[in-house]
Amino acid sequence: MHELSLVMEIVNRVDAIAKSNNVTEVDTIVLQIGEIATVIPQFVQACYPAAVDGTWLSDTKLKIEMIKASVRCNNCAEVFDPIEYHGVCPACACKEHEVITGREFLIKEIVCY
Ligand SMILES: [Zn+2]
Repeated sequence: MHELSLVMEIVNRVDAIAKSNNVTEVDTIVLQIGEIATVIPQFVQACYPAAVDGTWLSDTKLKIEMIKASVRCNNCAEVFDPIEYHGVCPACACKEHEVITGREFLIKEIVCY
């Protein structure tokens, strides 16, 4: 489980962003996680209290937004949802594709009071 170290990295980044913007109070951190990212949102959420424990961000909330996965077929350029179609292009049945969205793991927003 690598979520804890990822969440701690997020917390460090939020800390740095807040400090460089003279923000001293943060209400909510909004993350965007892709549907086919290697991180599991439930684990991220579960790790969060431990990651902020003892820091000035310990009272902040974490909100996670999911980003739908989409891929482009290498054969016919059809764009489709790889989860819905199990990774097989619905137009030509090709299994080779390039990921367009769905692997994100980003800080979308830092909500201040
Ligand atoms: Zn195709």
